[in-house]
Amino acid sequence: MKIAVLPGDGIGPEIVAEAVKVLEALDLKLEMETAPVGGAAYEVAGHPLPESTLGLAREADAILFGAVGDWKYDKLDRPLRPEQAILGLRKHLGLFANFRPAICYEQLTHASSLKPELVAGLDILIIRELTGDIYFGQPRGRRTAPDGHFPGAEEAFDTMRYSRPEIERIARVAFEAARKRSKRVTSVDKANVLETFQLWKDVVTEVHKDYPDVQLDHMYVDNAAMQLVKAPKAFDVIVTGNMFGDILSDEASMLTGSIGMLPSASLNDKKQGLYEPSHGSAPDIAGKGVANPLATILSAAMMLRFSLGQEEAARRIEAAVQKVLAQGLRTPDIHSEGTTRVGTVQMGDAVVNALR
Ligand code: NAD
Repeated sequence: MKIAVLPGDGIGPEIVAEAVKVLEALDLKLEMETAPVGGAAYEVAGHPLPESTLGLAREADAILFGAVGDWKYDKLDRPLRPEQAILGLRKHLGLFANFRPAICYEQLTHASSLKPELVAGLDILIIRELTGDIYFGQPRGRRTAPDGHFPGAEEAFDTMRYSRPEIERIARVAFEAARKRSKRVTSVDKANVLETFQLWKDVVTEVHKDYPDVQLDHMYVDNAAMQLVKAPKAFDVIVTGNMFGDILSDEASMLTGSIGMLPSASLNDKKQGLYEPSHGSAPDIAGKGVANPLATILSAAMMLRFSLGQEEAARRIEAAVQKVLAQGLRTPDIHSEGTTRVGTVQMGDAVVNALR
């Protein structure tokens, strides 16, 4: 089982080191090879996703990814910016299905910005389409406006588009996932305004005919954003497009207490996957040893489950995380009165000890 380890920038190397430590403690026969990505790769190879890194990712059964990005690269041409590495990996490996579970651990109920009774026991799964939509649609660019409110002015434009097969395959992923849970899917769209999402709604409704045992609801994205903070437990599986999923999953992360707790998996049709925390490179806390490594450690658990067929090892990691939370250990982002503040490395060590 070969794993490409891509730590990236900011807190990426710190949190990935802890996840690697946890994987090593499991005594599985995992071959792990590290390569630079993002700004770190730009520094050594002049490109955020060098051929060697992409080659390693292609060959691997799974990719453990930290995070990329730093404000200092914001002035680079867009194709050279660190964030292009993650977009490139998603595109080159066809990682179209993004799983973002949002689970509120009992011990962190009070770390949520919502009232405890609204989030206690929360366990929802956001499935975000990851290789289409306005983030990838062409054409895009800047130009002199040919028409519109200010003809002749500088303008920028992007293209939102989805094809029927792209919607069909993500809808199937959502219905299949729902079958393993409470058999409810909410499809989030903006069909009242956007053609793209009228097609989305039509296709999801058609695919649903193959899954009569699963309940399907449709919801506009503005309402979904509101319902997520009003009554989040009313959801089970949410399926949506790339941009809406990006925004809603960050919103959902706050329900769980901290974005530092949220893992994610991005899969292609061969079950090859890229596993990363839902958060970014957090340049504001990089190098301070305070980043929460649990989202990355939980991403490693998802990797064992989805790409490496190691369900038992995945459960061991998840149980170990529960145990350290029950012991009262907290990185600053989830710290509250009466708990013990620890740093990134101590948190990783505690998970390793809990495994044993
Ligand atoms: P961010 O997720 O990096 O940080 C948002 C806030 O959450 C910050 O206050 C940060 O300190 C905190 N935070 C994030 N992860 C944490 C953790 N593990 N423990 C404790 N606190 C944590 O988002 P941002 O600030 O908008 O973006 C920073 C950089 O990350 C940008 O360059 C952005 O493009 C990039 N980014 C990368 C990815 C990715 O690699 N997949 C995703 C999102 C953003």
